[in-house]
Amino acid sequence: MKRIVALVDLDAFYAQVEELRNPKLKGKAVIVCMYSARGKGSGAVATANYEARKLGVRSGMPIIYAKRKAKNAVFLPADRDYYWKVSARVMDILQTYSDLFEQVSIDEAYLDLSQTNSFTAAERLAKKMKSEILQKEKLTCSIGIGPNKLVAKIAAGVKKPNGLVTVPEDAVPSFLKPLSVGKLYGVGPKTEGLLASLNMRSVKQLKTMSLAHLQKLVGSAKGSMLYNGARGKDDRPVQPGRQKQQVSRLTTMKKDTSSFNSLAETVASLSTLVHDTVSAQKITFQTVSLIVMSNKMEQISRSHSLTEPTTAKKAIQDTVTALLKTFLAERPDFQVRRIGVRVSGLEHAIPDSRKPATNGQRTLRTFRKPS
Ligand SMILES: [Mg+2]
Repeated sequence: MKRIVALVDLDAFYAQVEELRNPKLKGKAVIVCMYSARGKGSGAVATANYEARKLGVRSGMPIIYAKRKAKNAVFLPADRDYYWKVSARVMDILQTYSDLFEQVSIDEAYLDLSQTNSFTAAERLAKKMKSEILQKEKLTCSIGIGPNKLVAKIAAGVKKPNGLVTVPEDAVPSFLKPLSVGKLYGVGPKTEGLLASLNMRSVKQLKTMSLAHLQKLVGSAKGSMLYNGARGKDDRPVQPGRQKQQVSRLTTMKKDTSSFNSLAETVASLSTLVHDTVSAQKITFQTVSLIVMSNKMEQISRSHSLTEPTTAKKAIQDTVTALLKTFLAERPDFQVRRIGVRVSGLEHAIPDSRKPATNGQRTLRTFRKPS
């Protein structure tokens, strides 16, 4: 059976959710921010709505730049707990459309729609998904459909917002040809720059390079990834129930320090952020780690495994504080520049509709057939 994969991506998700919560924001430039511990106004843009994007604001941009570009925009702090709740409801809708469902982030999921047997039928199903999400949650999303994850992901990005782009297998070469190499999986700004220096800017140009040449340039694994990517080839299956292996939060100290008190304070707020994420996703953890980086770029992590899995915030905070105390006693000379908190050994805590039947819910699920 031929594989048919869809990627569903909610449009400017954080900003859309904020607009729903506060209808007065509609029509205004809205910028959702992650503020950093560095203090007043420092941090980065998490999501900008389309009005803000028109003014040149992008995700990841420092807030200071965004303020210059969009003086009259509404700047809001990210409320990720709330976004995760909305996300969970959308994901619950999506997974009724396929047994092979893989959530990849708060606002993106892959669905294997091979059961529909044709790209036309898969597209009809995607239209239903879009209208159900719009009707129930008032949110728009963009969907890309292709013969694999790579093509589906790129297709979802080309007609945002509220797009639906289907690329059947035989249309893949002509679809990819004009795109810039940066659209391919694994091509970040660095690789893009390297390829540009060889005048390899489009996928069409990249296709002229041999596998051996690419591997010599960027290494064996990445070389074959680029070679296959340029040809629209990707074997990665949609993996249901794939989970994150760890959750971490890091921050840069206002100034380099070895003071227990100021580091402990930072570690306490990072513990809260980590706990927010794991509790919103209903996962337990068993290992807690402290990560420190010096002004000389030396990085050290110290971990402690608890006797049993837990969801308790106190477990994170107490463990990481103890790790910090021990570490500073051993290395009083260590000037901490960046510090982080990580939990690992993750498991889903509470059986929910996303897990195989422990409560009978799964057996009641029906999969929609295209009409
Ligand atoms: Mg998105």
